[in-house]
Amino acid sequence: MSAPLLSLRGVWREYPSGGETIAALKGLDLEIRAGEMVAIIGVSGSGKSTLMNILGCLDRPTKGVYAVAGHDTRELSPDALAALRREHFGFIFQRYHLLSILDAVGNVEVPATYAGQPRAERRERAQALLERLGLGDRLDHTPAQLSGGQQQRVSVARALMNGGRVILADEPTGALDRKSGEDMLALLKELHAEGHTIIIVTHDPSVAAHAERIIEISDGEILSDSRTGGDARETAVLDVGEPPAADWAALWGRGTEALRMAVLSMAAHRLRTFLTMLGIIIGIAAVVSVVALGEGSRQRILKDISSIGTNTIDIMPGRDFGDERSGRIRTLTPRDAAALALEDYVDSVTPQVSSTRSLRYRNVSLSGTVAGVGPEYFRVRGYELARGMFFTDASVRRQAQEAVIDNNTLSKLFAPGVDPIGQVILLGDVPVRVIGVTEPRTAAFGNPDTLYVWIPYTTAMNRVLGQNYLQRITVRVADSTSTDVAEGRIVDLMQRRHRTKDFFVINTDTIRQTINKTTATMTLLISAIALISLVVGGIGVMNIMLVSVTERTREIGVRMAVGARRSDIMQQFLIEAVLVCLLGGVLGIALALGIVEVVGGDTVPMVISGWSVAAAFGCSTVIGVAFGFFPARNAARLDPVEALARE
Ligand code: ADP
Ligand code: MG
Repeated sequence: MSAPLLSLRGVWREYPSGGETIAALKGLDLEIRAGEMVAIIGVSGSGKSTLMNILGCLDRPTKGVYAVAGHDTRELSPDALAALRREHFGFIFQRYHLLSILDAVGNVEVPATYAGQPRAERRERAQALLERLGLGDRLDHTPAQLSGGQQQRVSVARALMNGGRVILADEPTGALDRKSGEDMLALLKELHAEGHTIIIVTHDPSVAAHAERIIEISDGEILSDSRTGGDARETAVLDVGEPPAADWAALWGRGTEALRMAVLSMAAHRLRTFLTMLGIIIGIAAVVSVVALGEGSRQRILKDISSIGTNTIDIMPGRDFGDERSGRIRTLTPRDAAALALEDYVDSVTPQVSSTRSLRYRNVSLSGTVAGVGPEYFRVRGYELARGMFFTDASVRRQAQEAVIDNNTLSKLFAPGVDPIGQVILLGDVPVRVIGVTEPRTAAFGNPDTLYVWIPYTTAMNRVLGQNYLQRITVRVADSTSTDVAEGRIVDLMQRRHRTKDFFVINTDTIRQTINKTTATMTLLISAIALISLVVGGIGVMNIMLVSVTERTREIGVRMAVGARRSDIMQQFLIEAVLVCLLGGVLGIALALGIVEVVGGDTVPMVISGWSVAAAFGCSTVIGVAFGFFPARNAARLDPVEALARE
């Protein structure tokens, strides 16, 4: 005769209790052959459920051997045990243990999902089983919409889904009314007649009476084992052992199923899902919009710099800005400017002097900056004419009393509607004729409230200010020479002419580089702060996922009982975490786009860059995986029996 279907040899199951251990099973010896219908009866606390859990491979003996079809279960891996539960065992619990987010068909399908059966096939089989059990009109009802008896029949259908050669029923009628209980027992007898091995655990002798063999246990020991009828019929031998490695199609099928489950459970807990996401949404929105702000500011500043002239070098007296001697250094002269103009790397040269003077037109008197410049000045500095014209080289030679005024001066000095061109204004007591007005600028540099009047530098030095030295020489470098090279040569030339370094130079290129560097640092800094909020969001996700694992322990237990592998549980929770984070990322990016749309503009320049969006996506995925991993692993490591026991 072949090995019995299930055999226990000296099986102990001890639970730690405080400092000591209590034994729920005390050295049980038992054999159950295929095709039997066995009732295990005993009072509450006698060890029936403990025995049932060991028989169903939900739990392992502390001592002793439990063999299934001759295979010692101690030598089977968790995956092999899961396969055994999935392929051959079917559980019926007192409290049904259906998954509340799935309808009847969905619940029945679960074991087949883990077995990798194609969707259409398993739906068909699930429906057929439910119809056979009289639930044809309740296919899409969720457990909450079904009566106890109906729920228990759904769980029978689930037990039969993958074949269910061995049906293990723990108090299957315990929560049912009399009629439903009798129906359930009739159903189990019918399955027995079809060749299923049935093991019923009960405390009720009238239920046990339906079985052919009654095993009575008390306090973890077998009191009696009596056969009332029928003989064990050998049915097909179970194949037990390590399951074969899954192929890609099966993995893909299980993956998409896990995804579907994740979406379902997220949809079932919308508010909680949203609150979980909130941290990620805010974090991602903060990162993306901060980077947008940084990028916008950088572009704005660079544009402003180019408005003060590209590849220009300024030469000024003194050691650096703010040198207090610089006011007394009078060695920078028009002759220096003339010498620089002869150099081949110089495109043009603009000498500058400036001072504050009173500006007068008729009865209006104001204080403004009178700047003596060359005709190149306007081009170098990027000024545009609103009307009139700029002065020319001839004006410089003639020391012409001509002036170009800026927009501020126009509006302050002249009444609205007056054409300023051709009008004579007084700079101090020197009359000049207005020949041009510049366009207003939104310059980030220079005081926008300052009134500017530009006149030829010769006129300024000799007629208005009465000084023979310059305050600044602006050199526009020829396009063929780099500003760095030009800067070196200018310093050389000036040092030779002055025989000392009583001047300093400013290279707009250097400013540009500095600004680029500074804004990059700023963006990095603010992004780092925003990143911290992302991490906090991630920890929030982890926290909620951990709580969710605890809250859903029973669900995990049920899934494991019907044959989910550890990797299936892991996958489900990990996918859920990643989905939450990804969805949070998408919403965060949408929020950032909204912020840029509403807040961004002239005063707050914001430019969303593709890479920051891509990085946001990457971040939220990584956060999902990183912070979802531990909760998912905790879920996967749960002991099936422990998970089931928790309510
Ligand atoms: P029955 O199903 O016959 O009512 P159980 O098998 O559930 O009994 O329990 C048998 C004994 O083992 C009881 O004394 C119970 O307190 C104890 N027991 C069961 N499960 C645990 C557990 N997880 N931890 C500690 N003691 C347990
Ligand atoms: Mg029990």
